[in-house]
Amino acid sequence: MGRPAMTADSLSTTMRDAAATLARASATAEVTLANGWPCAPWCLEGDGHPRESHRVDQRCQGRLYSVGCSLEEAAPASHKELDIDVDPHISAYACGRYYRLPYVALYVYRESSRQFWSVDTEFKLTPAEAVAMAKNLLTVVAEIQGGA
Ligand SMILES: [Zn+2]
Repeated sequence: MGRPAMTADSLSTTMRDAAATLARASATAEVTLANGWPCAPWCLEGDGHPRESHRVDQRCQGRLYSVGCSLEEAAPASHKELDIDVDPHISAYACGRYYRLPYVALYVYRESSRQFWSVDTEFKLTPAEAVAMAKNLLTVVAEIQGGA
């Protein structure tokens, strides 16, 4: 068993295929350069972010999965819907930056009248860390519900 001997014809075909592959890659690169950064499939914008003037701003972001934090002092009344612009909440979403691996963003927001209690920051988690955190949350919930 082994690879069939390479003939001049098959070598020519292989080189033609390689040239076609290279041409396709080159065309893709040109489209990418013309349109900006190639977006991740989960990016809500999906257009390569051509309106951004700096690479650092060409950031892919997925859908927000937010939870209001009703125990915080500035939580809205129970009859109001969560407003993520002002209400305390935690959001998770996919995030990707230029030539970096995508990560799970965990955004934590809380405004407080107390000095140093306001929080407005994004933690970056690897997918494995996000899974570990999700399991930890479920474990803690089970503990306080007496199921652990
Ligand atoms: Zn994008």
